[in-house]
Amino acid sequence: MSSYDVIIVGGGHNGLVAASYLAMNGMKVAVLERRPIIGGACTTEELWPGIKVSTGAYVLSLLRPKIIKDLNLYQRGLKVKIKDPGLFLPTSKGGLYIWSDLKKTQREIEKYSKRDAEFYAKWSDLWEKFSYLADIFMLNPPPQLDQLSNLFGGMGNEEDSLSFLRVVLSDAKSMLNEYFESEEVKSALAEDSVVGTFSPPSAPGTAYVLAHHVIGEVNGVKGAWGYPEGGMGSVTQSLMIAAKENGVDVFLNTRVDEILVHNGKAVGVKLDNGKVINSKYVLSNADPKTTFLKLLRNAELESRYLNRIASLKTEGVSFKIVGYLEELPDFGHGKNLSPEHGSSILIIDSLEHLEKSYADAVATGFSKRPWLSINILNINDQTLAPSGYFVFSIFGQYLRYSRKLDEKKEEIYQTVLEEIREYAPNFRPVKYEVLTPLDIERRFGIWEGNIFHLDMTPDQMLFFRPTEFMNKYRTPIKGLYLCGAGTHPGGGVTGAPGYNAAMTLLDDVKRGS
Ligand SMILES: Cc1cc2nc3c(=O)[nH]c(=O)nc-3n(C[C@H](O)[C@H](O)[C@H](O)COP(=O)(O)OP(=O)(O)OC[C@H]3O[C@@H](n4cnc5c(N)ncnc54)[C@H](O)[C@@H]3O)c2cc1C
Repeated sequence: MSSYDVIIVGGGHNGLVAASYLAMNGMKVAVLERRPIIGGACTTEELWPGIKVSTGAYVLSLLRPKIIKDLNLYQRGLKVKIKDPGLFLPTSKGGLYIWSDLKKTQREIEKYSKRDAEFYAKWSDLWEKFSYLADIFMLNPPPQLDQLSNLFGGMGNEEDSLSFLRVVLSDAKSMLNEYFESEEVKSALAEDSVVGTFSPPSAPGTAYVLAHHVIGEVNGVKGAWGYPEGGMGSVTQSLMIAAKENGVDVFLNTRVDEILVHNGKAVGVKLDNGKVINSKYVLSNADPKTTFLKLLRNAELESRYLNRIASLKTEGVSFKIVGYLEELPDFGHGKNLSPEHGSSILIIDSLEHLEKSYADAVATGFSKRPWLSINILNINDQTLAPSGYFVFSIFGQYLRYSRKLDEKKEEIYQTVLEEIREYAPNFRPVKYEVLTPLDIERRFGIWEGNIFHLDMTPDQMLFFRPTEFMNKYRTPIKGLYLCGAGTHPGGGVTGAPGYNAAMTLLDDVKRGS
């Protein structure tokens, strides 16, 4: 390896996005990834012979259309099929489906409440308005304190601006209670407000988490989520092809042990085999704590910076169980293929269920009845498993990060199995693997296994992400930039932190700073 203009530590999707944009602007770039496969938390792995699973992220919506277009990802192999119905909540009335089509969903909701069916149109309107701002909001550094009034005033009229501000500050429970009366409808719509976050839906800031998850799109359908053919790894495979075709060198099995700093400036990296690679700039795709507390351990950063970074909220609370079945689960409509099998099946009884799951985890570390989102990943994808096998992903919360989680895996599995069998008694995994926050940390290299690198609470978003002194991708070390989910606009497969970090560096180069 010779020297580079830019070294990117980590080949997650954001690192790959940054790499392509930098290379397209004439820079010589290397991506160094510690794992044998590319993609970080956006990857497909063959866990059993012939059976492939999205081990981290499992559904796509937030990846910015501009990035898909600029990097020609569809021409480079990415194919996404919309998940429709998006959600299914098993209920005593045969279940509640949430479809992409408004009228179809309203007819469903009418079974539970005529008033809620009407209000669902207003609810969809609210999020659709924000989705049109998504690119401005996400593909730019966060608005700074003095620009807040522009941001909130930019909605066109005062009523919309205030509702936007309210979303940033509110809790999801109050908003859901304002719009809907039926517990089933509220339950179906609440998941996005707590995903990846150690908060119950009654905590301020959870409405923002909800907003973050509903402003995406798939194939032009606003708010929809989808399955990439070949699993989430096909997103990062297409990003890697783009990076390589743009001239980026991608090295796997290459762990950075240290980011090297000389006279307050990043000058390259040292690998775990002792090899040094020099560069003019370093971008870290690793989370902020890994970057500063591990990789910069010898950089002699001022203690006020280090203390602030060490105090960031990073405790992972999400777990996954992946595996495969030999028959489709019967959630009340039989074992033959039915629309719910292509959706996210939510095991959430009520808002109170979410509150209790959270409270249990505060008290004991694990929910007695965790909330769950179950996806069968290969309903429309022949590439993941031979026919007759059904690959599943169960995402659940709350399981608090601890170094002792290996001892709890069997208890976690049995708790989840028992809970699912209340709804689908034939749910019988042939093989499975439990991924606790500790596994997420070990597998993907994310501090405490936090799926968003840092909690998405109001004190860790906008100009506070990751901290007020490095909220525009620059850091206190000259030439070192952050480009991962721990920066604005946060976690999820968006590509936005990678794009914004690349634009910031290119700007700095242009200005000679
Ligand atoms: C279980 C789980 C489920 C999720 N579900 C979804 C979902 O369905 N949809 C969605 O949109 N989002 C989901 N997310 C969130 C989303 O996957 C992440 O927020 C996003 O992928 C983060 O991307 P990133 O590129 O910023 O960082 P990462 O993907 O974390 O990439 C960082 C990379 O840096 C590498 N690295 C770290 N340290 C070093 C080092 N010292 N040397 C070399 N390389 C290093 C890591 O190996 C990793 O590849 C989920 C995440 C998890 C974990």
